[in-house]
Amino acid sequence: MNIRAILMRISLTKICSVHIHLKRVIEMSKQKVRGIVIEASNKGENDRWLTILCKDIGKISVKSRGCRKPSSKLFGCSALFSYCDFVVDDHLQFYQLISGDPLARFFVGCDDIRKLALANYFADMANKMMKHGQEDNEFMYFLLKALQALDKNVNDIRTIGYIFELRSLVILGFMPYMDNCIGCSDPHIEYFSPEGMLCPNCAKSEDVQLTPEPYLAIVEICMEPVESLFKLKYKSAVKKILSQCAKVMMYYYMHTCFGTYNVTNYIDWY
Ligand SMILES: [Zn+2]
Repeated sequence: MNIRAILMRISLTKICSVHIHLKRVIEMSKQKVRGIVIEASNKGENDRWLTILCKDIGKISVKSRGCRKPSSKLFGCSALFSYCDFVVDDHLQFYQLISGDPLARFFVGCDDIRKLALANYFADMANKMMKHGQEDNEFMYFLLKALQALDKNVNDIRTIGYIFELRSLVILGFMPYMDNCIGCSDPHIEYFSPEGMLCPNCAKSEDVQLTPEPYLAIVEICMEPVESLFKLKYKSAVKKILSQCAKVMMYYYMHTCFGTYNVTNYIDWY
């Protein structure tokens, strides 16, 4: 064997070993995550950056390459609200989507603009409420149940909306105090404020006046198991007060008005 052939064999062996090593690194960096797409932004001609709220690891940003080509195997799983078992690869210092096995599909062929606007608002809220690296399986399950409720029409969409707002804040730890007045401990409570109930003496002009029916409804929304939460039904007058309470809480704790929320303001809810 001449020197050239020996050198060729050595370099081929090296290339093979580097290739095997790289393959092993890529295999090791692949991981399976269960999650729901809460944001999808188009990039370049065919790519998309996704924000996926995942079980056990929280929110991650994932690049989905070529997913906008109809022939791409990532086409379906890279859409907003896709709930899948995803395989992602993080060997390039960011997550890249490899595949997605659908677990549920929401709003397929849906042309109800009110439903889609509200679902978009929910996803936006989830995105803003959850930080990267903050694992919250309870919130993820709650979001899934809310999307399912909207998709399957289990209640009128206004009710699904304020139940989502109130309960999402409770899950984040902002449970209003409901036993006595938070100002003076008087058991005679007549007003709602984001931190808790108030008696007429402690209430301010921006607090929401409550009769016993909406008071009990708020207690129910804070405590009801998530499985049956979105099926709770209320009278029209109670709905109006619950909507007000939810808005007051959102402004107080989120300190911001979401763009997607503004869209829902223009919706004719009935
Ligand atoms: Zn008081």
